[in-house]
Parts: sequence; structure tokens; C-alpha cells
Amino acid sequence: MSKGTLLVISGPSGVGKGTIVAEILKSRKAALSVSCTTRAPREGEVDGKSYFFLTKERFIRLIEENGLLEYSMHFDNYYGTPRKFVEDKLKEGDVILEIDVDGALNVKKAYPDAVLVMIAPPDRQTLLTRLRGRGTEDEEVIERRVQRADYELSKSPQYDYVIINDDLGKAVGQVIAILEKGDIKK
Ligand code: 5GP
Repeated sequence: MSKGTLLVISGPSGVGKGTIVAEILKSRKAALSVSCTTRAPREGEVDGKSYFFLTKERFIRLIEENGLLEYSMHFDNYYGTPRKFVEDKLKEGDVILEIDVDGALNVKKAYPDAVLVMIAPPDRQTLLTRLRGRGTEDEEVIERRVQRADYELSKSPQYDYVIINDDLGKAVGQVIAILEKGDIKK
């Protein structure tokens, strides 16, 4: 029997979901799941903290061993959620997953009690500006991200909540309220 809420947060790249999660963790005790991925680390990313960076062979072995709660493919790389960490931590309290829509919908199938939250931009133009504002990427990469963002947002109707990130403090407050509602139910 789990004690905590399994909160799944998704949203397009550039929407600010990482910042929202970091803010939540400042004021609420919850376990953030560290995902496994086969993509290469970006500058500044730490193995075991940002992700567990695995070879494709190791990742596939994990799938075969049923070690992942869910996994999906994103821009030619695998991403997945370690099963044991989530199941253990749920016995103690809330667990947050920051994963893409395909993974989130698979989690919901396996855990119908999971609460799915979509973080959406105020409008498409704001998202475009944020994606461009990151600087380094070329237009083709940005265009791919925009298409992916449209795909992610198209899944919003299957989410339990959609939160518009036009004000960081407000968005954080809304997610915390959702977690608190989970406490009341228990
Ligand atoms: P990035 O490479 O930019 O860190 O992440 C790319 C995408 O993979 C993001 O949409 C992110 O939410 C998603 N992602 C990260 N971890 C997981 C995971 O464990 N499972 C799934 N399905 N998606 C993930």
C-alpha cells in the first residue's frame, strides 16, 4: 500500500517544468525520481543526479529485467523510470516524475492513482521565444522541438490537470495544492 502520491509532471521543452519541480522540492518533502537515459550527458550534468547515463545495451537489459516502470524513445534515445526507487519511495511519501507524455500515459495505465500534471506555456509564441532564448541550437533543432511541443500539448486532455506557467510562483502553488489534495484523500 503506498503512502504517497505519484505525481507525474510533463510539458514541452522550454516550458519551465524543471524550475517548477525544483521550487516544489524547496518547500515540500518529496522524492524526485532520477531517470535512466542513453543520451550523452550535457555540460554540467552529473551521473546519478541529472540522469543515470547508460549504454543502450545496459538500458535494454533493464527493460528485460522489468527494472523500469515505463520507458520511451525521445529523439533517438531511450529514457526510463527506475521501478524500484519509485516503489520504495512511495511507501514513505510523495514521488515526482518529470517525464514525457508517452511515459506519463504508460505510468497512468500501470498506476491509475498516479496524478498527471501538464505544464503548458501561456501561448505558442512564448514557448517559441523561450526555445530560441536558449541560444545555442540551430533553427532545425528548434523546429523539431516546436513540433514535439505541439505533440506533447495535444495530449493535455488525457492529463488530470493542466497548469499554465505564466507566473512561476502561481504555478508552483497550484502543483503543491494538487499534492495537498492527495494528502486529504489518504
Ligand atoms: P532531455 O534530453 O532534454 O533531458 O529530455 C528529453 C525528454 O525526455 C523530456 O521531455 C523529458 O521529460 C523526457 N524524460 C526524461 N526522463 C524520462 C523518463 O524517465 N521517461 C520518459 N518517458 N521520458 C523522460
